[in-house]
Amino acid sequence: MPNVFVRLLNDVFSLVFPNQCLGCGKELFANQKIICFFCELELPMTYFHLCDNKEMRHSININAQVNELYSLYFFKENSLLEILLYHLKYQQNKTIGQFLGQKLSVIIKAKNNHYNGIIGVPLHPKRKRKRGYNQMDIIGRSIANACGIPYVENILIRTKNTPALAKSTGNRAEIVRNAFALNPAKKLAAGHYLLIDDIFTTGATLKACSAVLLSDSTLQISIATIAFRE
Ligand SMILES: [Zn+2]
Repeated sequence: MPNVFVRLLNDVFSLVFPNQCLGCGKELFANQKIICFFCELELPMTYFHLCDNKEMRHSININAQVNELYSLYFFKENSLLEILLYHLKYQQNKTIGQFLGQKLSVIIKAKNNHYNGIIGVPLHPKRKRKRGYNQMDIIGRSIANACGIPYVENILIRTKNTPALAKSTGNRAEIVRNAFALNPAKKLAAGHYLLIDDIFTTGATLKACSAVLLSDSTLQISIATIAFRE
C-alpha cells in the first residue's frame, strides 16, 4: 500500500509547512486545497446552469446562436473570489485554477457532459509570455481531466493585445472587436464546444470569441465562466 506512505509523508509535510486557507487563514487539512470547507460554502453560487440566466443571454445576443450560458459564482468586489482570481492571475498560484476547474466540472457533469471539447479565451502571446501562462488553460485542463473532454488549445487566437477590460474605461465591445481569429493552421472537428472564461462582465469578450468560432457553421458553442459580475 504505497499510497498510505505517500499520504503519511504528505501529512508530515503539511505539519512542517502548514497550508493556510486563503479566505480565513486557518490551517487546511491535508486533503484540502486553497480554501477551507467553510470558506468554500461562502462562495456565492449562481445556479445559472439550472435556469440559463437571461442577463447573460441578453449581453451575448448575437446573430449566431449560443446554446447554453452559465456561471459558477457571483463576483463581488473585495470578495474571496476576487482574491482567488487575483492569486491565480498575478501570483502564479496555478493550484487555484485547478481548484476552480474542478468546481466548474461538477456543473458540466450535471449538464450531462455532452461537449466535444473545451476552449479557453486566449491571451495575446505577449501577455502570456509576461505572465508565464494563460489562467484559462489551467482551468480548462482541470475541467478536461475531471470530465474526460479534450481541452483544445491554439484554435482560437488573440490577434490584438487589448488592454485589460477590468481596468479599461472605453467601450468593451469596441475594444475586443476583431481581437480574435481562428488559427488558420488548425481545423476544429465539427461538434459542440464549451467556451470558458474567468469573469463575465458585459460578455463582450465572449461575444467576440463566439462570433469567430461560429463563423464555422459546423460548430456549436456554449459558454461557461467561473464568475458573473453583478
Ligand atoms: Zn477558510
